[in-house]
Amino acid sequence: MSTPKFRVAICGGGVGGLVLAVALSRYPDIRVDIYESSTSFTEAGAGVGLWPRTWKIMEALDLHRDLKKVAIVPPGKVPSQYGLIPPDRTPPLTIPPDVSFTFRKADQPIGISFHQLMKPGEVYCYLIDRIHADGSEGMLSFHRPDFLNVLTQHLSDSSCRTHSSKRLVSYRYEQQTSPSRRRSHHPPITLQFHDGTAAQCDLLIGADGIQSAVRGCMLREAAGKSRANGRVQEANELLSEIEPRWSGMTMYRTTISSEALNRKLSRHRVLHEPMVYVGTNTQVTAYPVARGTQVSVAVTRVQLDLENTPVDGPWIQTSSREDLIHEFDHWEPEVQAVLQCVQSMSRWAIHTSPQLKSYVSGRVGLIGDAAHAMLPYESVGSGQAIEDAHLLATLLGHPSTTIDTLTRALETYDRVRRPFIQMVGEGSKENALLYTLNYPSLRFDEPERHDEKRLQRLSEVCHRIKKNWEWVWNTTLEGDIDRALGMLENRR
Ligand SMILES: Cc1cc2nc3c(=O)[nH]c(=O)nc-3n(C[C@H](O)[C@H](O)[C@H](O)COP(=O)(O)OP(=O)(O)OC[C@H]3O[C@@H](n4cnc5c(N)ncnc54)[C@H](O)[C@@H]3O)c2cc1C
Repeated sequence: MSTPKFRVAICGGGVGGLVLAVALSRYPDIRVDIYESSTSFTEAGAGVGLWPRTWKIMEALDLHRDLKKVAIVPPGKVPSQYGLIPPDRTPPLTIPPDVSFTFRKADQPIGISFHQLMKPGEVYCYLIDRIHADGSEGMLSFHRPDFLNVLTQHLSDSSCRTHSSKRLVSYRYEQQTSPSRRRSHHPPITLQFHDGTAAQCDLLIGADGIQSAVRGCMLREAAGKSRANGRVQEANELLSEIEPRWSGMTMYRTTISSEALNRKLSRHRVLHEPMVYVGTNTQVTAYPVARGTQVSVAVTRVQLDLENTPVDGPWIQTSSREDLIHEFDHWEPEVQAVLQCVQSMSRWAIHTSPQLKSYVSGRVGLIGDAAHAMLPYESVGSGQAIEDAHLLATLLGHPSTTIDTLTRALETYDRVRRPFIQMVGEGSKENALLYTLNYPSLRFDEPERHDEKRLQRLSEVCHRIKKNWEWVWNTTLEGDIDRALGMLENRR
């Protein structure tokens, strides 16, 4: 390529990093290098779920056609042996509008179904398999390696280079030695990798996930400056933003065999009905996947008194059914049947990042989980990383953005995205409390009764959950992009 207008280094080739690189590939005068710590860019991992708000970005980046080919299409509500589509039948691409999650209070001998989130646009999660081209409103889900693989295929051959097995350890602004560089006031940033190698760039974007090395470096540098200026408290606050914090939530995830579940409890409800079973401090989401041959199970336990305490051992571990099953002694039989079918589970100690006062500093910025890892209670972590990437790339690609105005583009990104994402994070936190019946005014601690008041409270739980989802269903990023461009162009 001819001399680029500036060189961007993206640290981390996960969802946010790769989308940023794809989005920057539209600007041939921006040179992009992606440094990923893993040996490949498509390492195994959990799923990626995209709501229509994010899907519009995939369309704008021309990724949608290839992504559709690898989307997971779950079963519709077609009757079969288990009330599902048989494995050899292709499910329809549109599903009846009544597919929904049923909410059931289940931490009692006989549970009570208290709400259904219905109709496209009101549906909670995963199961809605419409391929959004028809204007529908559900979530599309993908296996993470398939999703990342499509992204890597859309990187520019001429302006973008990928580097695997490159774990960033630190960065520093280079001393200005050459007279021409001194005049430009923009010393390069030197990246130091774990394998002893180094590289340079003009702009560094940390897309390196919740334990971001870039965030650590950025905050230590800012704290150093504050301390040097006598602002000791500010320095300490900045340092306290480096480490992620345990939310007190542990999530157990697995899939079980539909056949085994049917044997355990004939025509079990979750074989044909996506369920959210709620109880105080514990919640189970179960729904059919793999064309009805399996059931996805996610159990969340909340220990609010342990919030912000350290977690011993790895954050993700394998766990056995015995670790969990005693928690459900008093739950209704249909939940116990699900758990009795579990072989093993992966156990995740769910961490979040502290609320940062800024996502940028000088010519360094953070996107995705590096900036704002949140609780997975709105299923938008990947979507928010993608939104960051798209908006930031639009600002960087703007004709007025040059090496002289990079900091202005970054500050605009920060001003537009940070308040919005903090609002999203708060909603996700509130949903976590609602799903585990921990919301302060809507608790269920007293002895079991089914009076009107309790039912009203349960319905209020659902009303609030729905409210917290509304932005996902009813808004787009376009307004924010327009606002950001307006700020960059001094229109506002
Ligand atoms: C249990 C759970 C369930 C979730 N469910 C959902 C869901 O349903 N829907 C949803 O949208 N989101 C969900 N999320 C959140 C989602 O997984 C993240 O928000 C998303 O992956 C963030 O993307 P990212 O690009 O910022 O980081 P990541 O995807 O984590 O990518 C970071 C990349 O950086 C690399 N890296 C790390 N350190 C370095 C380094 N020092 N140098 C170089 N490379 C480095 C990593 O190898 C990785 O490839 C869930 C999260 C959890 C924990």
